[in-house]
Amino acid sequence: MQEVTETKLLRGKLTDKETVHQLNSLRHLFSTTVGPYGGIKLLRNNCGGHVTLTSSSSRLLAALRPTNPLARLIIEACSKHSHTYGDGALFMAHFILILIDKALKLDLDHRLITKVNSFLLELFLSHLKSDDFSCKMAVEISDVNSLCQVASTMLSSKPLYQLDEQLLKLMSSVLLETFIRSLPSERQDSSLRPILDNIHIIGIPGEETHNSFCCEGLLLEATNIKEVLSWQTQRESLENICTVVVNVSMAGDSIELPQLTYASTSLKELEQSFLSHLESFCSGLISKGIRILFCQKVVHPCLKDQLRRNGVLVFDRLGALLCSKVINLTDSVPISSFSSACSPDQLGKISKFSVMDVFGKQWLHLNQISSSLTTLVVCSQMEEQLEELKVNCNNVMLAFQHLLRTPAVLHGGGCWQFTLANKLRVEVSENLESFSSKLDCSESQLLQLCDYLCTSLEQAVSPSSQQGKKCFTHPSAGHLWIQDDHEVNAEKTCSCGVLCCSLSDLKLQPLEHSPSFDRFSKKELYGSYKPLDTISSSEPPKKPLLMDCFIPWQTAVEISVLLANMALSTNQFIFDTNCKPST
Ligand SMILES: [Zn+2]
Repeated sequence: MQEVTETKLLRGKLTDKETVHQLNSLRHLFSTTVGPYGGIKLLRNNCGGHVTLTSSSSRLLAALRPTNPLARLIIEACSKHSHTYGDGALFMAHFILILIDKALKLDLDHRLITKVNSFLLELFLSHLKSDDFSCKMAVEISDVNSLCQVASTMLSSKPLYQLDEQLLKLMSSVLLETFIRSLPSERQDSSLRPILDNIHIIGIPGEETHNSFCCEGLLLEATNIKEVLSWQTQRESLENICTVVVNVSMAGDSIELPQLTYASTSLKELEQSFLSHLESFCSGLISKGIRILFCQKVVHPCLKDQLRRNGVLVFDRLGALLCSKVINLTDSVPISSFSSACSPDQLGKISKFSVMDVFGKQWLHLNQISSSLTTLVVCSQMEEQLEELKVNCNNVMLAFQHLLRTPAVLHGGGCWQFTLANKLRVEVSENLESFSSKLDCSESQLLQLCDYLCTSLEQAVSPSSQQGKKCFTHPSAGHLWIQDDHEVNAEKTCSCGVLCCSLSDLKLQPLEHSPSFDRFSKKELYGSYKPLDTISSSEPPKKPLLMDCFIPWQTAVEISVLLANMALSTNQFIFDTNCKPST
């Protein structure tokens, strides 16, 4: 008899010691990971499993399993952002945690904080979306340089694989070439279809990164290369080959086979019945002229033998991801059931089949004229560097896809965040009276909350205090200058590379000033706002410009403030202790 357990519920709050501790640990983790000055994290589970080295959001967030529900919610939201947009997820996690931490230290009602945050977020977004925002630029999708700079910015922000300027240039152009090759030729396809479906990324460890390349079609690792070569020599033509994809097991263990009497058969007879049914199914495939069979799962050796004897090449255990690429390449409908014979519209085609030598190893190269599927081969000496590089190449493709829909970029390296914060401070100062009456709060409360939001945004992209860097910004132009502790006051470009000035001559202010409104004189706050009045654009740029893809970062700002507001509005978490965490 099943034991009936009493429901036990535990309650928790945002201000609980344990919750604050978990959120602070996460905040510290992200503050030392964000950006090019961030450190590499070494991850391992408590059972002593595989050691992962990373500073990439996708790999780091996937490894974090906080027990606190709020911390978990934040990690899940940032993982989802990373998966959808490919960029800005670490910034987002850091920004949310700073907003929550600073809000808990403010002596203000949480309802007032969330109300003002929502209002100021609208102002943030209207500046970001405006074409007048000085840190935003429209890019032509045919502008190869700008697209390469976006890729280079994303690749250079990860310290695990250190790519010099030349390698960054090379990898950026390989990624752009991959992306362009993967674009569907028909215009109507390019709107919402995920481009990543058309890109297959493989990693080759032990090779120099500059050997990375892309090629049309699908490269498939062949475990049965001898069989492939003998199949190849037996065939008159290696063009227009008829193929089929099966995405269920062909090991003879299927339970959905029809017309079998289960009750009266032994296990051995049952297996034999399954196999004979599959054998007749394969005979049907052979009679339809199938020459290659791809199976996501396992194919029984007897069936492999039957197919081989009839000139059919078999590739099994492809896995779901690779199987989806094969389906895409061959433009076929996968077989998911053996209950009926394979219909003609389920068949696919490969227009060209060849064997390609990739760094001394033979791979199958499958091509289909009507398909845009492209294979990107990424090389790196160390395995962990390779994994990191592969993930980030994938993220660059996601960013390119968003650029295709919204062709706009922001001055990266933290510069647009500082400029945006300055814009907001100026706007709030100029409309203090009307905004405060609209929000039903005092002017000093509004100034305090505007400062809280702006410094949180700035802090989310600044190097942490342990990294030995000093940060400066310009009171009217914004942008961010980062200086090493030992560096002399030389002429220096800002973080994104657009502006250049001397740290001592101009009005750059160190960030330690608190509150941040002290950075501004009354004249600057109330006077006319001229972003570039005292500094000139460096011409030509001394280093490649850093550019952030617009949509991922705009969404990151929006979701961060909304999530922080949600956390501040939640006054109680309820844990059901009867539920064991899933493993
Ligand atoms: Zn800048």
